[in-house]
Amino acid sequence: MKKLSLKVKLTILYTFFMTLVTCLSLAILFSLSSQEILTSVQSALKEQVADSFHDIQMENGRIDLNSDFYDLDGGVYLSLYSKDSDFLYGRIPYGFPSAPPIEDQRLRTLSSDSGKWYVFDLQYQLEDQTTVYVRGITSLTDAEASLSITLRLALIVLPLLTILTAFIGYRMTSRALKPVKRITDTVKRIQENEDLSQRIGLSQGRDEIYELADTFDQMLQKLEEAFVREKQFTSDVSHELRTPVAVILSQCDVLLSDPTYTQEQKEQIQTISRKAREMSQMISHLLLLTRADQGRQKLQLEDINISELAEMAAEEQSLLAARHNITVETQIQPDIIARADETFFIRLLVNLLSNAVSYGKNGGYVKLTLTSDGREATGIVEDNGIGISPEALPHIWERFFREDSSRTVRSDEKHSGLGLSMVQWIVKAHHGTISAESTPGEGSRFTFQIPLKSVSL
Ligand code: ADP
Repeated sequence: MKKLSLKVKLTILYTFFMTLVTCLSLAILFSLSSQEILTSVQSALKEQVADSFHDIQMENGRIDLNSDFYDLDGGVYLSLYSKDSDFLYGRIPYGFPSAPPIEDQRLRTLSSDSGKWYVFDLQYQLEDQTTVYVRGITSLTDAEASLSITLRLALIVLPLLTILTAFIGYRMTSRALKPVKRITDTVKRIQENEDLSQRIGLSQGRDEIYELADTFDQMLQKLEEAFVREKQFTSDVSHELRTPVAVILSQCDVLLSDPTYTQEQKEQIQTISRKAREMSQMISHLLLLTRADQGRQKLQLEDINISELAEMAAEEQSLLAARHNITVETQIQPDIIARADETFFIRLLVNLLSNAVSYGKNGGYVKLTLTSDGREATGIVEDNGIGISPEALPHIWERFFREDSSRTVRSDEKHSGLGLSMVQWIVKAHHGTISAESTPGEGSRFTFQIPLKSVSL
């Protein structure tokens, strides 16, 4: 039952109950009516036997039977027996067991190979005081046959009824659950495209599900507004912060060129300047990401040799890595031409490589692989560094996410927690995919794929 859809489950459920109820009612109905039929057959038999006395007369000392005695009124066969149980007159049905003993006023059931009968004997005193017995026989098989026809009919109708119920039930449930499918599709679309502008858009309030969809749409509307506000806020704040940070930086430069300051004071100013530069970089990253969110960040796509860019990025990072005894290895297929934005492609590689160095072990390695299958380019950046815990792994793409600031092995490096968010955006903007695998203590591996002929955004 686990894998079945709700539609099928509901259909099975009420088809089952419908069949159960119908079977039960039919069973009760049959048992009542069969009893009723048998009772009426029995009383008809007794009545016919009792009435038959009118058809028996004495004529000149001999028994004279009226022709009515031979009629099969109500299907009852009548016969006359002497006091010593000898058959005198009347009709016996074909296949009736030969001469069963007379039992006065006792209704019995007798059966033979050819059928079942009700037998009823009744004693009668003729005018000359001779004792005779009238025997009434009626076929039970006939009575049962009429019942069995109805039963057979029911056995044909019942499965048809079940199929019809299942069919109608399935159609009705499908119709009733159609809006649910639409809700699910909308939520999936929102999830896949991260697009909160999607709406379910069912007409208002026909039933509870429509009401739910409507409430859901209202909630999406509120969420979308909140997200837009939040993006606008980040964008505004970043813009507002740009000027003061630029002023701090330029003032630092002015102070550093002032000869009246001591070496110690200059070092302090340099620290302020370094931090201001980090802040400035973070602001520009934030601005880029908010522009990307608002769909305002466009790519400058051109056919570029990404193999050369990869070599350059690796070389640049190997200088930084060398400081920590980390070797940068490359395995780059030459001359891969892809339609990409040069600046962003370099940023993608630099962010991944600098992370690999930052979270690498002293004396370890970082490896950059770039290959192409003619359709898409695959890049892998791997290291044998500290790795990422399985709990943190799904969150590394989130803005400002940092697994644990104390994990950073190099204290002289800047970490804003925006690097991978940007990497993810760059890959998506190039219609590519990116994934990360990692084993804590053993290292991490980031794999991205971008189509060589990227479609312009
Ligand atoms: P940060 O500026 O902190 O490096 P990122 O967005 O680049 O921010 O990375 C987010 C987090 O993912 C990092 O704080 C770090 O915990 C983890 N991470 C990224 N790359 C690696 C790597 N190569 N090895 C281990 N952890 C990594």
